[in-house]
Amino acid sequence: MFKTEFLDIPALSHAGGSIRLPGSKSISNRVLLLAALSEGQTQVVDLLDSEDTQVMLQALRQLGCAIDMPTDGSLIIQGLGAQLSVRQANLFLGNAGTAMRPLTAALALLSAELGGQFTLSGVPRMHERPIGDLVDGLLTLGCPIRYLGQTGFPPLQVGTGEPTRLQLDAPIRVRGDVSSQFLTALLLALPLVSRRDTVIEVVGELISKPYIDITLNLLERFGVVVKRDGWSRFTIPAGSRYRSPGRIHVEGDASSASYFIALGAIAPPSPGQSGITIEGLGLASIQGDIRFVEAARQMGAQIRGEDNRLHITRGQWPLKAIDLDCNHIPDAAMTLAVMALYADGPCTLRNIASWRVKETDRIEAMAHECRQLGAQVESGPDWIRIHPLPMGQWRAAHIHTYDDHRVAMCFSLTAFNPDGVGVRILDPQCVAKTFPDYFEAFFACVSTDVAHIPVLCIDGPTASGKGTLASEVAQRLGYHLLDSGALYRLVGLAAERAGWSTEESDLRDPAQAQRLADMAQHLPVRFDGERIWLDGQEVSDALRTENAGMAASRVSAVPSVRQALMRLQLDMRRLPGLVADGRDMGTVVFPDAKLKVFLTASAEQRAQRRLKQLISKGISANIDDLLADLRARDARDTQRSAAPLKAAEDALTLDNSNLNIEASVNRVLDWWRRSALAPKAPPNASRSQV
Ligand code: C5P
Repeated sequence: MFKTEFLDIPALSHAGGSIRLPGSKSISNRVLLLAALSEGQTQVVDLLDSEDTQVMLQALRQLGCAIDMPTDGSLIIQGLGAQLSVRQANLFLGNAGTAMRPLTAALALLSAELGGQFTLSGVPRMHERPIGDLVDGLLTLGCPIRYLGQTGFPPLQVGTGEPTRLQLDAPIRVRGDVSSQFLTALLLALPLVSRRDTVIEVVGELISKPYIDITLNLLERFGVVVKRDGWSRFTIPAGSRYRSPGRIHVEGDASSASYFIALGAIAPPSPGQSGITIEGLGLASIQGDIRFVEAARQMGAQIRGEDNRLHITRGQWPLKAIDLDCNHIPDAAMTLAVMALYADGPCTLRNIASWRVKETDRIEAMAHECRQLGAQVESGPDWIRIHPLPMGQWRAAHIHTYDDHRVAMCFSLTAFNPDGVGVRILDPQCVAKTFPDYFEAFFACVSTDVAHIPVLCIDGPTASGKGTLASEVAQRLGYHLLDSGALYRLVGLAAERAGWSTEESDLRDPAQAQRLADMAQHLPVRFDGERIWLDGQEVSDALRTENAGMAASRVSAVPSVRQALMRLQLDMRRLPGLVADGRDMGTVVFPDAKLKVFLTASAEQRAQRRLKQLISKGISANIDDLLADLRARDARDTQRSAAPLKAAEDALTLDNSNLNIEASVNRVLDWWRRSALAPKAPPNASRSQV
């Protein structure tokens, strides 16, 4: 997962391949609650693992529900039945509406029936999301509920600790035009107290009906069949009881699928591939957002449905403009707003008032961020109109994500703009709400000309701290890391292990140099995070010794060895970007790097740092010897003819003699922030795709 402050997505050109979707959020949280309220044990397969399901699981555990995680990735839930095994708890539900609303209803009814008292709270945004209509419905049933903050909004206290009388004889009225989750909450909770037929009447036009379908469908899987008269009256039969279906499978998330459907509709297929395949979701899905497929087809996407799989290719281009009532696909419709930027005319999305009360005011958010890219946008209380952005008018933008996963995912699609400008997504970790590995999945499907993939080079003399700096900067940017020194150290070590001399005099022999270069080209190396394996043996520590460093310095002076390692290094330039640490990174291997940093410090400082490092590893060392070694290495590295130690002409020098690592990292990130998003010259067509 990208836990970085921002994620720069460079301009992209193609997409292709296959993606397995995470489980549906709506199904996951309903299934968890139903399993907990059922009699018997339920095995849940392919549950979504995200923030919203984590808060639900945590709440259920606090309520005394036993949840096991066997090694096969499934979850085993021991149902509580319509009972309270814990009578008091404070539940924190993050920003998960799918946890807050149904838990409020279920705990209010159970507390009234059995005597319990619970508080339910969330993040500040959750305390701005309305719940008054649901609370009103529960109050008329006789459930004691108190607002702990502002009236009409969480946090709430339900129950008094003592049983109270419920009045279930009159129909329960609930508004349907603010959030369908209020009705879902009542439908999920009322079977817990169904001594008699219980009737729910919906007041006002019910929005987001497909979510009610999911609820009814899942209630049936758990043994409760609700009678529905149109969309305004629902009857829960007397004597309803939740019974575990034993095992239940969670479909892939149809809203998450929308980004990959849009990707297939927007991006030309990668060479040798025929579009995007989505695994884990078919056209027969019970999720309402599957109807995003119809909207995407209307805009020109070619979509084929197979059993539990969708296949998408680009059809009409530019996309066709639409004017669509999106009430049936409120979440996935956000993706249409971004597709609209690539359309042949303005697109209008209507009947989306619910956007205003979601994770953020989504109408405002989408309008503001599309405008940042250069688009013209109009909006009203329940609609938005986005005009397409023609070539030449796209601007590099810093996209605010408002702690809203869907905003972050939607705007990744803007990297296919015809102007070759990159996009910066702020706080990309907000995708954790429903799709923690979204960007990894996205980067696995997209490609671009290598020239677009940003590289940041860091070089400097030995012990300047460039390795630590490079690895920290790579982490903060979410980029790949190339420790080129490790490659030369590996060649030196492999040579010595093979019994070959790496003395300078021997390396001058062309046959010996060639033998070394051949080995370097086929180095049997495996990188596994921080650990490195050579020929099946772990060499992570052996590589960091002074001895290995000296050998690296000698073998790296052989031009044919440098040439042999070239391909390996170029191949590391992958999306979303690369931090490359080492000698000739900015001068020879990646001369077009966006930023080159030459890190330096006095020889005395560097010797002191090396001494501390060795002592911390329990290795004894002497400062005078270290200083002498360091100077000898500096001299050889500076004077040699192959890739001598010197700053690239366009490098920025950072003397870190008096800076700690955090300060150095921040300086480099500051430079990067300024340089990274500038559009590149049109890429050279002959370069390979990555
Ligand atoms: O950076 P590190 O100390 O691991 O590198 C070991 C040696 O490998 C350096 O002193 C340098 O001589 C050589 N090297 C090189 N080109 C690189 C990286 C390292 O010549 N790109």
